[in-house]
Amino acid sequence: MASKVYLIRASRDEGEDVISEKARALFRAGGFSDCFKENDLTAVKVHVGEDGNTTYITAPCIKGLAEELLALNTKPFVTDTTTLYVGRRHNAVDHAILAAEHGFGLEGLGIPWIPPDGLSGSSAEAVEINGEINKEVFIAHSISRCQSILSVAHFTGHVASGLGATLKTIGMGCASKHGKMAQHAALTLEIGDDCTSCGLCREYCPADAITLDEVRAHIDQDKCIGCGECMAMCRSGAVRCNWGQETEVMQKSMAEHAFGALKGKEDRAAFFNFV
Ligand code: SF4
Ligand code: SF4
Repeated sequence: MASKVYLIRASRDEGEDVISEKARALFRAGGFSDCFKENDLTAVKVHVGEDGNTTYITAPCIKGLAEELLALNTKPFVTDTTTLYVGRRHNAVDHAILAAEHGFGLEGLGIPWIPPDGLSGSSAEAVEINGEINKEVFIAHSISRCQSILSVAHFTGHVASGLGATLKTIGMGCASKHGKMAQHAALTLEIGDDCTSCGLCREYCPADAITLDEVRAHIDQDKCIGCGECMAMCRSGAVRCNWGQETEVMQKSMAEHAFGALKGKEDRAAFFNFV
């Protein structure tokens, strides 16, 4: 059965407080409280933005939603996974600091920030789905284990995944680094000139796919399983994806990861998209 969709007109010009109250009004009008039960560990999946980037849904805009979950006596936590690419969301520590700076946490929202995929994005649960592309998908552990999800997404365009909103937020955004790499399976990882040959990636590579010479590391593409550990561990940002080769396969794989992230929570999830 198709999901019910509720719309409300809102504009950034109205201010964050008004947007927050409109989101709260939608939550109530749509009967979304039925998705959440007392004592649920509820993941509030967000994107905390980047330095100097304004294209994300700010924390004050979702304060009303956080308050609604608290009023239902759930145990909500605000959360997002680490990224494959190097930046302030690449590991849990930098990500948590960025989240706090942008008001995502106890101080700003009255609910804690919890990193769902461990320190470096490898804390995951394998979820069996028997999909067309994936037999199992790797979902961030705390998202897989929570009882309900409230997703907050904004529309974005991406050369490989098309228009992304909830589907991308759940499919890519709830996957561990291994899960993200599986979605980017058409890609190969490359090691750039900034490699210092420190060997950390080789230490953590589960497939023994990395060799070192005196100048740099090298990845054996035949052995690589795309887990993303080397990218997560490299302190020099030397491990990179070739982002240009994503295909239709990636979009199907993303949908399968969304299916896996929501498995068992089909009636326990609410999705808020900001256009
Ligand atoms: S961890 Fe990074 S810098 Fe160190 S060897 Fe691997 S790719 Fe090179
Ligand atoms: S992605 Fe995983 S398997 Fe491939 S080289 Fe990096 S650590 Fe090794």
